[in-house]
Amino acid sequence: MQLFDLKGRVAVVTGGNGGIGLGMAQGLARAGASIVIAARDAAKSKAALATLAEPRDAHQFVACDVTDEAACRSLIATTLERFGRLDILINNSGIAARKRPEELSRAEWARVLDVNLNGAFVLSQQVYAPMKRAGGGKIINIGSMLSIFGVTYAAAYGASKAAIVQLTKTLAVAWAADNIQVNAVLPGWIDSDLTRQARVEVPTLNERVLARTPAARWGLPTDLAGVAVFLASSASDFVTGAAIPVDGGFSAQG
Ligand code: NDP
Repeated sequence: MQLFDLKGRVAVVTGGNGGIGLGMAQGLARAGASIVIAARDAAKSKAALATLAEPRDAHQFVACDVTDEAACRSLIATTLERFGRLDILINNSGIAARKRPEELSRAEWARVLDVNLNGAFVLSQQVYAPMKRAGGGKIINIGSMLSIFGVTYAAAYGASKAAIVQLTKTLAVAWAADNIQVNAVLPGWIDSDLTRQARVEVPTLNERVLARTPAARWGLPTDLAGVAVFLASSASDFVTGAAIPVDGGFSAQG
């Protein structure tokens, strides 16, 4: 359907080499977009590129640590050089530090904020000028259920994910006149490397997720593909500043 057509569009997906980022990248590629996977692990990224819709040479890996401002600048410059445009940015890279707040070091706190929040801010700033010049663009930030809820082991992660929703609203308001829509997606509990490790570190997690999620299952990275295509396409041109849960009903459960 033309409303959701992304042919000719170019998307940068941070952390697009696995989990939710790859699920979203696969959706965008199927809708016709060229994908730039921005992450640190080259081997994992190259394997991920091979899972994107043909043609394979429509997609590229660019090494980028989102905590490195120069690397972020170079990511955007490389994308513009190679493709001549940048329509969609998905700020998806994220890490957790699962400890009680009184045990979390200042360095651990800072690292989580740096990857999950500061990286998204820096990249959003970097794409603003080219998107504005091109007449518009789409920024999709990845929040979490912990943008809304608190748990004992996620002070830094929860702070970063709550802040990303406010960053989303601020950018949406500031850049609406430039036809840049900025939205957040709040995934529920999705099966990925991140949550596989969480299940090891928080032994009751699996039961709690299944008990509280009305859909009674973990989400899959591919469950995020549809919302990514919607928020990246002209179907969402009047949607901005929203934070959309994709959670099997987790946040609706009383
Ligand atoms: P994964 O661990 O599978 O993916 C995390 C991604 O982030 C990897 O691709 C990793 O790539 C990248 N990354 C980590 N650090 C950096 C860095 N410094 N610079 C660039 N990229 C980095 O986890 P998920 O797919 O689960 O998580 C993706 C996003 O979704 C995160 O923001 C997470 O907080 C969020 N989320 C996940 C939920 C879930 O249930 N899974 C629920 C709610 C939100 P590389 O190591 O190659 O750099």
